Amino acid sequence: MSIQNSGQYFYAESAADIEEAIKAFPEVADMKYFRQSVCKCRHAVFRLYLDEDAGYCIRECTRCSYRHVLVDGEDLQDEAVPELVMCVCDFDQFEVMGAVSVYDDSPDDARQFALGCRCVGCGIAGVYATWLSHWCGDEDEPGWSSYLAGM
Ligand SMILES: [Zn+2]
Ligand SMILES: [Zn+2]
Repeated sequence: MSIQNSGQYFYAESAADIEEAIKAFPEVADMKYFRQSVCKCRHAVFRLYLDEDAGYCIRECTRCSYRHVLVDGEDLQDEAVPELVMCVCDFDQFEVMGAVSVYDDSPDDARQFALGCRCVGCGIAGVYATWLSHWCGDEDEPGWSSYLAGM
């Protein structure tokens, strides 16, 4: 047992436990594939700038400051109004994991996306955003895989 449900919060010991925390959220219980965000510098702790309504999130590496727009959000930057994500403990640095569900009749394609985060200050992990993916793959790669490649 590596996450603890303490009232409304889940305390996770490591980034790997974010998957368990996501699965514990009823709204996204059908998530099937998971991928942790790792910067090109190999660091995996980020500040996040999120606009859930737009389906848009930037991660900013806390070591090298490289910024990356998650999954398919690149086209949304003109309409999105991202805000810095803060934990309830007032810290702003997270390990990040994306998850997708798939369609019953199209198990290669991404249906819904969930953004799971674990605060590295206090260990609280949870789902910070969800949105519809509607992402289809091609003959080379299934949609869930190419969608999560953008984590
Ligand atoms: Zn980096
Ligand atoms: Zn925290």
